[in-house]
Amino acid sequence: MTRTVYVNGEYLPETDAKISIFDRGFLFADAVYEVTSVLGGKLIAFDGHAQRLKRSLNELGIENPITTDDLLEVHRELVRLNDIDEGLIYLQISRGAPGDRDFVFPNPDEVKPTVVLFTQAKPGLAKSVKPMTVISIDDIRWGRRDIKTVQLLYPSMGKMMAQAAGADDAWMIEDGYVTEGTSNNVYIVKDGKIITRGLSNDILHGITRAAVLRYAEEAQMEVEERSFTIEEAQNADEAFYTSASGFVMPVVQIDGVVLGEGEPGRVATRLREIYIDESLKSAV
Ligand code: PMP
Repeated sequence: MTRTVYVNGEYLPETDAKISIFDRGFLFADAVYEVTSVLGGKLIAFDGHAQRLKRSLNELGIENPITTDDLLEVHRELVRLNDIDEGLIYLQISRGAPGDRDFVFPNPDEVKPTVVLFTQAKPGLAKSVKPMTVISIDDIRWGRRDIKTVQLLYPSMGKMMAQAAGADDAWMIEDGYVTEGTSNNVYIVKDGKIITRGLSNDILHGITRAAVLRYAEEAQMEVEERSFTIEEAQNADEAFYTSASGFVMPVVQIDGVVLGEGEPGRVATRLREIYIDESLKSAV
């Protein structure tokens, strides 16, 4: 099926959608993005994604070209036009397309940001739980990982390194401590306590992370925000990751070491159920 996508105010068949070769997203990765999941035809955690988008744009000095109300409307219209029951909405805003390639930012009065959204249908998204295996790799990304930019070459290479090693994903290590997965926030569980790295510029401030930690505390689970090493993770009772597209996903093997019985852990399984139930209640 040909998707209907959104480009700068227009809904178009994907085959007719075009952006300039001078777009700064294309030439300089000068763009930010968000991915919002859809369950039962409704948007999960839309407000959180809209807030983080504003923050990312602000950190890069890109003028916000669209109000949150209009953004919600575009998301909903794409869900409707593409008949999405379960899936994802990808949104990207770049600094725009000046008439040439230049490192210097264009004048924002003359060049407006490029706004692109498209849907990805993922039937069975809520049900697809895969016990994940991960490898560890060095984290050589830039220092502002809190900004959700489209500079995803290294995370993409990380996934390929994982694939080449027969694993599903890679956890990145900096100064001896795990930062995050290639496209997710990571957690270990030891003696019932959930341990995850604290927020800083070193990791993306996951929207799913924020919700899951809140639900964990509401369910009287103990949470400790601190860094951990890969060895500590290998000795944990269980591990998992969170992301908008994976919700809460169990991790059962780290650099070849099987955690516990090699099955999805109790804490991850429970948090996944709570997260999906609660998110559906507040879906828009
Ligand atoms: N960290 C990184 C590096 C990511 O790319 C993502 C997903 N985009 C996350 C964490 C998880 O964030 P969220 O829960 O908002 O999807």
